[in-house]
Amino acid sequence: MKIAVPKEIKNHEYRVALTPTGARELATRGHSVTVQVGAGEGAGFSDADFEAAGARLEANVDTLWGEAELILKVKEPQPEEVARLNRGQTLFTYLHLAAEEKLTRGLMESGATCIAYETVTDRQGGLPLLAPMSTVAGRMAVQAGAHSLEKAQGGSGVLLPGVPGVAPGKVAVIGGGVVGENAARMALGLGAEVTVLDKSISRLEVLDDRYQGRMKTVFSTADAIDEAVRESDLIVGAVLIPGAAAPKLITRAMLADMKPGSVLVDVAIDQGGCFETSKPTTHAEPTYVVDGIVHYCVANMPGAVARTSTQALTNATLPFVIALADKGWKRALADDSHFLPGLNVHDGQVTYRAVAEAFGLES
Ligand code: NAD
Repeated sequence: MKIAVPKEIKNHEYRVALTPTGARELATRGHSVTVQVGAGEGAGFSDADFEAAGARLEANVDTLWGEAELILKVKEPQPEEVARLNRGQTLFTYLHLAAEEKLTRGLMESGATCIAYETVTDRQGGLPLLAPMSTVAGRMAVQAGAHSLEKAQGGSGVLLPGVPGVAPGKVAVIGGGVVGENAARMALGLGAEVTVLDKSISRLEVLDDRYQGRMKTVFSTADAIDEAVRESDLIVGAVLIPGAAAPKLITRAMLADMKPGSVLVDVAIDQGGCFETSKPTTHAEPTYVVDGIVHYCVANMPGAVARTSTQALTNATLPFVIALADKGWKRALADDSHFLPGLNVHDGQVTYRAVAEAFGLES
């Protein structure tokens, strides 16, 4: 199959949809892999790395897209990319269509087959192509929070691990899913005192069992959040209610109960944020201060660690890419009931119910 890997053009996107390792796997199966010149640069993969892996390089974007049967990307296609898509081509990337009517209609008009990373499922009921980025964001959250606690960042000047004779800092993580567990794990690793709050008892059971009492697990109620607000040096917001905006769990008035210079890291900002005072920030200016509390609310945290994020994402997508390339999209999806929900748009029709319902379309 002819596979194309364009350079991502969305602002500040440094990831690439395939690593040289992935290109080699595909090339050895007899597929033709064409990578746009410079596509891997932001993630630390040179053109020479891709060539050595058996990929062909292409500088002309029209040729790259025009010749492809399967196009691999990271971010949702931008308008000029949608215009390049044609019937008979398959696109495999993050799409997040439910909030993007214009993009959805553009993809329908293209006639192409569009498969989204974020709606592929696994046997445990998880989202295996979304989880790697939640893992990255969760781990980064504590790194960002610890840095924000420094005086120069407006923080209280607390060192999370403490030192001999000085108690460690306190970290509360609200939401103990993929982001939350990874944040809690990092905070534990630093030596902080860690509490995880979740509404799901079964999730708290998993964490309690996995970490053998080394982190406190607390059922998430207004009282429990009040206590976390009063006690914590760092609070990580990591809740998710699928398909809905994040609930506002900490109001502006509650900031007055926090210790001055404490830090809120709102990872759920991509779903609107779970603190009332959160507003999206960028890696260029990641934090701001409200009522003496430092806020870190970067909406695309994994972008800052493009190399690790690219490797984590492509490890997860590669088996699906190989299935698409070896079998073609029809058989690849028919053979795997967890890959099938990935299909969002085909031949002018929306094929994913939540997206169709969002825009009053037939699915
Ligand atoms: P997840 O589904 O694995 O976990 C969410 C958890 O929140 C669940 O365990 C759920 O029970 C819990 N929850 C729901 N309501 C709660 C409440 N009121 N109190 C306490 N817990 C509650 O989701 P995830 O993969 O961990 O993602 C969390 C959020 O992080 C999502 O909004 C996701 O989009 C976002 N995210 C952001 C970035 C970024 O760069 N900012 C990157 C990756 C993920």
